[in-house]
Amino acid sequence: MDAIDVIRTKRDGGELTDEQVRWFIASYTAGTVADEQAASLLMAIFFRGMSPAELTCWTAAMIESGERLDLSAVGRATVDKHSTGGVGDKVSLVLVPLVAACGAAVPQLSGRGLGHTGGTLDKMESIPGWHADLGPEQMIAVLRDVGGVIAAAGPGLAPADRKLYALRDVTGTVESIPLIASSIMSKKIAEGTDALVLDVKFGSGAFLPDPRDGRLLAETMVELGEAHGVRTTALLTAMNTVLGRAAGNALEVAEAVETLAGAGPADLVEVTVALAREMVALAGVDGDDPADVLASGRALPVWRAMVAAQGGDPDAPLPRAAEIEYVRAPAAGTVQRLDARAVGVAAWRLGAGRARKEDAVSPRAGVVCRAKAGERVAAGDVLLELHVDDPARMPAALAALDGAFEVADRAVAPEPLVLDRVEGTR
Ligand code: URA
Repeated sequence: MDAIDVIRTKRDGGELTDEQVRWFIASYTAGTVADEQAASLLMAIFFRGMSPAELTCWTAAMIESGERLDLSAVGRATVDKHSTGGVGDKVSLVLVPLVAACGAAVPQLSGRGLGHTGGTLDKMESIPGWHADLGPEQMIAVLRDVGGVIAAAGPGLAPADRKLYALRDVTGTVESIPLIASSIMSKKIAEGTDALVLDVKFGSGAFLPDPRDGRLLAETMVELGEAHGVRTTALLTAMNTVLGRAAGNALEVAEAVETLAGAGPADLVEVTVALAREMVALAGVDGDDPADVLASGRALPVWRAMVAAQGGDPDAPLPRAAEIEYVRAPAAGTVQRLDARAVGVAAWRLGAGRARKEDAVSPRAGVVCRAKAGERVAAGDVLLELHVDDPARMPAALAALDGAFEVADRAVAPEPLVLDRVEGTR
């Protein structure tokens, strides 16, 4: 087998054989295929795409590059959720304990955030004492005892993806639907979950702004899940504005806890409940409607147990920023729009996110949207709170918000949050 033949085949529009795909992934992971050769193949895939057979094999080879966890000892049906990422997307923090309270087990292995969307682990790490690192046995023990776990994906899970994703990041090959789908699904399938619900976000704050790309990504991921024996459903959800009101690590944890206590913002509740219903259905759990479980506060004790199982103190006060600056409404009227990407970039510049993998994040920094699209304000009312530790960061955050909102005397039609659903053929 020769790397140059594999690259030429794809470059010229041919279809790779299973042997070529498996050899390439195994050799690149082992370090015997060079970065520049893998980069060439990725660029050829970016332009030529992949057939369903190539993509299934590519994903299988990435899974086989590491371990596939066996969660059979958990004793309950397992079901996880993956989001393609959005601004203020704290859904996992509410959903994992909620679905566990409904009777399924939720093994959520996550990564850290990069760019303007936050990472679930960064949010959880703002809880004093909480740590993300659990070995497989500890993870199974927490799942058995508590029903839900949020932890860092260890280095043994799809190591080929770790290497390929880092290479894609620096070679302009991230935005390829087959490469995104195989990257996400290899990690989720290796995690060992029986079933998976995907939250594919589209809109200004999402990774894929166009809903047609979101739909194609959802279909591709659902097919991959089903091909690997994981029952998979996807929802396409809107990400044109912040979900809930908070964007930033501790600020989002506080909002998630309010939601678990039954007092969450309506949009966050709607998206969380829609995903939870899909998850309990896929897990085959027959119990109370997740909407009732959430409203009653019954998921809150599960959250507390999850936090405590990983060293966190659920009663400890969350860290708060040293400074808060306010952005006020320029006139009376109705907020017409509040752009998710601009708020995400502002929160990131305030210190809530990282530009490079090795950067530290502030647990305290972020943005609270006191008024969102469709809400009435008087002139001078606070629209946004900007939380920061280092005031020198404030001007860049304010610049990101330039043109991000509009207040006018017109009514605003509410935007549907769940736009579409893709299910497997099963
Ligand atoms: N998230 C992933 O894990 N992989 C991608 O390729 C894109 C987003």
